[in-house]
Amino acid sequence: MRVYQSDQYTLPLPENHRFPMQKYRILKEELVKQQILTVDQIFEAPLIEIEDLYLAHDKQYVDHIINGTLDAKEQRKIGFPWSPIMPLRSRASVGGFMAACRYALENGFAGNLSGGTHHAHRAHGGGFCVFNDFAVAAYVLKQKHKITQLAIVDLDVHQGDGNASMLQGSQGIFIFSMHGEKNYPFKKINSDLDIALPNQCQDDEYLTKLSDALPKVIATRPQIILFQAGVDPLFSDKLGHLALSFEGLKQRDQLVLGLCKEYGIPVAIAMGGGYAEPIDDSIKAHLNTYIVAKELYSK
Ligand SMILES: [Zn+2]
Repeated sequence: MRVYQSDQYTLPLPENHRFPMQKYRILKEELVKQQILTVDQIFEAPLIEIEDLYLAHDKQYVDHIINGTLDAKEQRKIGFPWSPIMPLRSRASVGGFMAACRYALENGFAGNLSGGTHHAHRAHGGGFCVFNDFAVAAYVLKQKHKITQLAIVDLDVHQGDGNASMLQGSQGIFIFSMHGEKNYPFKKINSDLDIALPNQCQDDEYLTKLSDALPKVIATRPQIILFQAGVDPLFSDKLGHLALSFEGLKQRDQLVLGLCKEYGIPVAIAMGGGYAEPIDDSIKAHLNTYIVAKELYSK
């Protein structure tokens, strides 16, 4: 089991910006401190090739991000101001996920300690997402790794509108999203399977619906599953509006990863959202995902 990290690329954000930039570094440190991973299981994320970004994204959009020439309105949509480190951070985030997919194909499991940028569209960003890691990975996996069938399991509390807009209807890609009905993005874009949850949804309802849905994903016989394991359904999340407990989220991860293990389907995890304040609860929930993975994959 291994993970990729890119926390050296820290965006300079205005004070009181609600994006938890420190989460990435703390998660990496806690994984080691709590002996969930050893330092030699943590790898630096490579930058994704720009040519690979062009497979999924509009070339002009990619070039604007790289060169810092995006217009102000489009930049505001992303939610981060442009800075020279932004294209590097965005490329490392996608590159880390791509590397995790490649490792998972060979070894069953890998994670990226960032990413899950499911609000990025083909020609614009949104919701703190610049490039769409799952869409880029899907294109690269199909074109360069002979993958003919893959599935996305997106359990971040926010619907994966970018994944749906970029990949819906593509041959051999099944997209499943389970999310808060009354939450961002307010204009949802249909996936193959969408489950919209009411505000304050708790463990029992969540886990029942997930248990019913996952066999439909497995039935498509994916050669790899891309898992967006956002922890913003947690009760204490400031942006989530659901009410899952730590144990409920852990059981969520056990359900997904347990099925992947049982059916021998490689799985790559991207971090996704987590906006508790202070950030400790989100970190704890992200750590639990790796505790579950370790139990399943380090034997
Ligand atoms: Zn989210």
